[in-house]
Amino acid sequence: MVRNVGGFTVGRGSLDRLPAFVDARRKAVGGTPQVLFLVDSFFAGNQTIIERFGAQADDIIRFVDATNEPTTDGIDAITNEIRGRLRDTPATVVGFGGGTTMDTAKAVSNLLTNGGRAADYQGWDLVKVPGVHKIAVPTISGTGSEATRTCVMTNAASGLKLGMNSDYTVFDQMVLDPDLTATVPRNQYFYTGMDAYIHCIEALGGSYRNAVGDAYSRETVNLCRQVFHADDMMSVEAREQLMVASYLGGCAIATSYVGVVHPFSAGLSVVLGLHHCIANCIALNALDEFYPNEHAEFNAMMKKQNVTLPTGVCANLSREQYQRLVESTVVHARPLTNALGPDFRSILTDERVIDIFKKM
Ligand code: ZN
Repeated sequence: MVRNVGGFTVGRGSLDRLPAFVDARRKAVGGTPQVLFLVDSFFAGNQTIIERFGAQADDIIRFVDATNEPTTDGIDAITNEIRGRLRDTPATVVGFGGGTTMDTAKAVSNLLTNGGRAADYQGWDLVKVPGVHKIAVPTISGTGSEATRTCVMTNAASGLKLGMNSDYTVFDQMVLDPDLTATVPRNQYFYTGMDAYIHCIEALGGSYRNAVGDAYSRETVNLCRQVFHADDMMSVEAREQLMVASYLGGCAIATSYVGVVHPFSAGLSVVLGLHHCIANCIALNALDEFYPNEHAEFNAMMKKQNVTLPTGVCANLSREQYQRLVESTVVHARPLTNALGPDFRSILTDERVIDIFKKM
């Protein structure tokens, strides 16, 4: 069973439809409900954008610092603060920003109706009742958070990086306005966009496949190729294509599994604190033996767009750090089995995993 986003609008200027979506929710709920806007702090001070939300005087606009990816403690802190400011359940929660902000909106929405703490729901189908109605407005493309049934959070106490995987985590509505990605820094735009490409080459390279997932994946890869082989990956047309690729890539991954890249990327995030999307690019760049064609294509795209990757990120680490990198990679049994079969540890021995990290 796969649940998709309830409805969407796409195209330049579609942010102007957001006030109508929000007002429809106010009417549906009745009375004078508040609306919660969780907004990437990148937009703090951008009154031109904020005025287009259609917020009313007693609505809550809470900026989310996306410097670090979400943690369970951070989500609990925001939720408690919001609870203190709400009169009642809000009519809707709007997540306006990148993957971190959208994942925060999903998690807060679930916690407002389910109670408890974020860590209680890390896993599969642990959310008991539907969260607050929620609307996604992505401002960078690639992670597919606007489409998926998870919201990734790191639990500092357990070291676990896992989301609330639930049908209740899926957004009810989505606004895809490519004008919003015009101001993203080029490197970040590339790394994040490649997340969609990587999700789908991993899904297509795996053994857990289905016809719908394959169709989503193929079109995502096709759109990413058009964007990243183009002269300007950030033209208006390319930004709209990448926004659609991000959504379709999210749909693809909701019906299948990733492969070898994401586990290595998770190791980089957990042990060295690298962000998801740049970590994916660094990982793919060292995994040419598993993805030779995609590795070559990735490098051609990087060259064409004049983007560079940091090097030597795993040079001169301690024995203990390399061992933690191994553990935080091979723990991802489902995607590694998808890519390499149940016997993946005979291929990914400790020594081989460390050698791969040393190439990064
Ligand atoms: Zn990803």
